[in-house]
Amino acid sequence: MANHVIIGGGPAAQAAIESIRQAGSSDPITVISNEPMYARMALPYFIAGEKPEGLMFTANEAYFAQKGVTFVQSAATGVDTTAKTVSVAGGETVNYDTLLIATGSSAVKLNVPGADLPGVINLWTLDDARACAAAIKEGTRVVFVGAGFIGLIVVNALFKRKCQLSVVEIAGQILPRMLDAQSATLVEGWLKKKGVALHTGNSVTGISANADGTKSVQLKDGSALTTDLVIMSAGIKANLGFLDGSGVAVGQGVLVNERLESNVPGVFAAGDCAQGPDVLSGAQQVHAIQPTASEHGKVAGANMAGSGVVYRGSLLINILDVCGLQCASFGQWSDSSDVTCVSNDSRPAVRKFVWSGNRIVGAIFVGRPDDLAMLTDVGMVKGLIQTKADLGVWKKYLSENPFDVRRAYVGSGAAAGLLGTKLTANASKDRDYRFNDLKPAKQVGEAHAILVGTKPVGEPEKVEGPAAG
Ligand SMILES: Cc1cc2nc3c(=O)[nH]c(=O)nc-3n(C[C@H](O)[C@H](O)[C@H](O)COP(=O)(O)OP(=O)(O)OC[C@H]3O[C@@H](n4cnc5c(N)ncnc54)[C@H](O)[C@@H]3O)c2cc1C
Repeated sequence: MANHVIIGGGPAAQAAIESIRQAGSSDPITVISNEPMYARMALPYFIAGEKPEGLMFTANEAYFAQKGVTFVQSAATGVDTTAKTVSVAGGETVNYDTLLIATGSSAVKLNVPGADLPGVINLWTLDDARACAAAIKEGTRVVFVGAGFIGLIVVNALFKRKCQLSVVEIAGQILPRMLDAQSATLVEGWLKKKGVALHTGNSVTGISANADGTKSVQLKDGSALTTDLVIMSAGIKANLGFLDGSGVAVGQGVLVNERLESNVPGVFAAGDCAQGPDVLSGAQQVHAIQPTASEHGKVAGANMAGSGVVYRGSLLINILDVCGLQCASFGQWSDSSDVTCVSNDSRPAVRKFVWSGNRIVGAIFVGRPDDLAMLTDVGMVKGLIQTKADLGVWKKYLSENPFDVRRAYVGSGAAAGLLGTKLTANASKDRDYRFNDLKPAKQVGEAHAILVGTKPVGEPEKVEGPAAG
């Protein structure tokens, strides 16, 4: 019998639990997490008032009982890789045979005067989301410090709540790690039309409290913004301090190989805190996105159960709704040597494919959801990159017809290739956990059911929204 221990309770941990069980291991699993199990990427729906808090959670006692999981809600404070133990706050020690580090990352607070004032928050945890939801109503002024991927996800949520939004970004453009300058300019124009004030090429030098309860955010250019709430979205850092002295090799994350195993045999890492192989370059990278966390967890879990799965590597994926404008970028989107790019400033719309030979290795999309095949093309191009499909003659066709991805996707064989792709030997299964035992919101159509192997289920029940106030 092996003791599987997982530190962290986010999507990487959950994928690992599922994968260990699907691989046939019935050995005990202990999850040590300082928060309950929930999905961070669902938090914007809670803040926007679209989903109740209960839907953020991804596990409960019944789920743990069904999966044979002992859940310890506490922080891991150290790992002894010789004795194979994890120390937990409060003094407990947990023995492991296989260990998964899935502790995610934390938001970084800018080191400026006033950063710790009440009303200056990060938006990373459920507690942060509760604080934000309690602080806002229609017309609330909010200043965002940082215009990255997560910052703009939250901008979108507060736009739905009709808040007055300002964004300060030190780079000369918004989304500097997601969009090129041309695409960012179009998105900036869209945001301004939606009433979001942008201060790019500027930075916050301090925050002070005013007598009337508002705050003043001082900017480098000498100007100041008066606001009710400040949300810091200026970067994240992997949670790995407890590994100091453990001998586990760490760069920006735990350095892991194509089995998601660290330099210490039996110690795996997954998700935001793991620096694992990138599908295109093979280099070890931290992607800090949900798809990577889920894939890492699945592969690591299978290998903890002894399956010997080799991971193809993760693809950098950013998909974002910016106040009604869809933006996506994949892989090596910033390369510029061999590029197909079409844009229309007035829609606004951008399509950029980055080529390496006959393969697409990066892409940018900007457009409204109802623009010609915008959303389905995003998914297909992601598939072309992920399968490393050699497009052969379809490269010329796609370069001349960038709005007709479907033919190239099917004609090149990428669609057929993807259908046969599996991350591990086991196809994904339903997790069997739903808040209040709710059934899935949609029935699966016959054609879709053939592809995903699920069975249609009953009508959804109504979910009550969060209590007003
Ligand atoms: C508001 C928001 C929106 C997002 N939207 C998207 C999106 O649209 N698309 C996307 O791809 N990604 C999105 N993300 C990012 C995504 O949520 C993360 O990439 C994902 O949660 C990473 O999963 P994880 O399991 O690695 O870590 P986490 O989800 O961070 O879970 C790790 C858990 O481990 C716990 N932990 C940390 N240290 C310890 C310790 N020492 N002991 C015990 N427990 C510990 C943490 O508290 C946490 O509960 C979003 C994130 C946020 C905050």
